[in-house]
Amino acid sequence: MKKISELFIGTNNKGKIKEIKALLPKGIKIYSNLNFKIKSPIENGKTFEDNSLIKSKYFSKKTNLPCLADDSGLEIDILSKAPGIYSARWGGKSSDFKKAIKRVYRELNKKDKNWKRKKIKARFICCLSICFLEKKIVCVKGKVEGLISHEPKGKNGFGYDPIFIPIGKKFTFGEISPKIKYKMDHRFNAFKKIKKFL
Ligand code: IMP
Repeated sequence: MKKISELFIGTNNKGKIKEIKALLPKGIKIYSNLNFKIKSPIENGKTFEDNSLIKSKYFSKKTNLPCLADDSGLEIDILSKAPGIYSARWGGKSSDFKKAIKRVYRELNKKDKNWKRKKIKARFICCLSICFLEKKIVCVKGKVEGLISHEPKGKNGFGYDPIFIPIGKKFTFGEISPKIKYKMDHRFNAFKKIKKFL
């Protein structure tokens, strides 16, 4: 199998660019929207896989480079797996993560006033795909199971990190150092499956 030597990271989310860069092998020349500034496509897929492929194809065609894209999100079991593929959209037009977290608590209160007395099971999902122009090279899924914290904790990371406690730990992803988070999260688990292409 021919390994990839150049790769565009197809996202406009700075938190993801940082994390994906840290996971990629050193030999690959990495390009991203930190220098290119290409607008993101409309994500009108029905699944994480669909949306990941929409992004990797779109950014590859725009840059003429093989492109790695991620579509990810948080699933909360008692909310019928919401926000799911709408995780970014819960932050509104300005992708305000505080707003998204407030919405999670609002929906949990609506669903069950006593939710804080229960274990609120959740997981982060990540679908990573690589496309070169129209061609799909690979698409894989990774996840990390956990619980929703009673209140936001910690300033590390991005998105829903302050309210997600990975299984077996006492701290949220917002409290855990990025180095440790990157080695245990949904993106890392998806990465393990895509490694042989890189
Ligand atoms: P999208 O994949 O760009 O559509 O957005 C995924 C959204 O899910 C992000 O904007 C975050 O709100 C959330 N998300 C995905 N991965 C993580 C993570 O590692 N930590 C916290 N939130 C995440």
